[in-house]
Amino acid sequence: MRALVKHPDEVGLHLEDVPVPEPGPDDVLVEVHTTGICGTDLHIYEWDDWARDTVPAPMTVGHEFSGHIAALGSNVPGFEIGELVSAEGHMVCGHCRNCLAGRRHLCHQPRGLGVDIPGAFADYLVVPKGNVWRHLEGLDPEIASLFDPFGNAVHTALKFPVFGEDVLITGAGPIGLMATAVVRHAGARKVVVTDVNHFRLELAERMGATRAVDPTQSDLGAVQEELGMLEGFDVALEMSGSPAAMRDILSNTIHGANIALLGLPSDPYPIDWSVVIFNMLTIKGIYGREMYDTWYKMNVLIQDGLDISPVITHRFAAEDFEDAFTALRSAESGKVILRWRT
Ligand code: NAD
Ligand code: ZN
Repeated sequence: MRALVKHPDEVGLHLEDVPVPEPGPDDVLVEVHTTGICGTDLHIYEWDDWARDTVPAPMTVGHEFSGHIAALGSNVPGFEIGELVSAEGHMVCGHCRNCLAGRRHLCHQPRGLGVDIPGAFADYLVVPKGNVWRHLEGLDPEIASLFDPFGNAVHTALKFPVFGEDVLITGAGPIGLMATAVVRHAGARKVVVTDVNHFRLELAERMGATRAVDPTQSDLGAVQEELGMLEGFDVALEMSGSPAAMRDILSNTIHGANIALLGLPSDPYPIDWSVVIFNMLTIKGIYGREMYDTWYKMNVLIQDGLDISPVITHRFAAEDFEDAFTALRSAESGKVILRWRT
């Protein structure tokens, strides 16, 4: 089968012919249909310090996927050949304090699909049965392939109540864009999205933003005034990893605001803690998806008509992966997907 393999000591990926993986008794073999390229995959492609320290190359990478069940291990009841599935990409240890208490998203030592163990950029992959997510019948495999980052968006967007609230989202990457649609759907009043990339600001408007703003060109205080807001945003979702975005959040949220942080900063950075204290802000870090409540809510949102498809801006055949990575690096893309089946 074909697989995109990361080799040590070099930038890039290779599309290679490798053996189809063998499912163990508790595993599911999935025939991959569509995969999404994530920022993590770009770090692995570029082979930066984090990737070198983390990925046990040579290894097949990729973790955002949808596909059909091709074979079941001997101890996998409840699934059928041909079902459309994805997988929770965090493999939990099962025996730390939080795992034992059922809080698996807080596992002490999760391993990542396509990061620590062989991934989904291939014709087939093996997933442990406890990580398989069966999709709603009839769901488009393209939308199904978004469930990993869609889950990041849903987990962050619904961490705090947003009904009737004014929400600031910093960062209109694929996750910020999907979060925009989610908070709109969940009844937020005004949704202001910031980014420094104008292509993405346009996408944010398509996803339902009340206003999409470049904070280096427009003052967020003035935007609040135009929208009739008096005291600041009630909820903020940080989805850029940028220290400047965090400063925008601290100076534009209401006293007692709720702030969810998903964006990963590349380096530690200072913030003005006196604002957090005097304004009595709540700041919550978000990692991955809740297992499996976030997945359940994704189904509910899709069944309820939420349309996240505009986030996909580029589709490539797997063999054109170099063009796909180029598109991802360009300033003009949302989610870039790779097709393994036609
Ligand atoms: P992305 O890199 O595609 O999007 C980030 C966006 O932030 C970009 O469009 C960029 O132009 C914008 N940006 C840069 N500076 C800004 C500023 N000052 N103000 C507003 N926007 C600014 O990323 P993505 O795939 O959408 O993911 C969003 C973030 O979440 C990334 O930082 C990613 O590393 C992180 N992430 C975290 C988790 C988790 O579990 N915590 C999971 C996936 C991704
Ligand atoms: Zn654990």
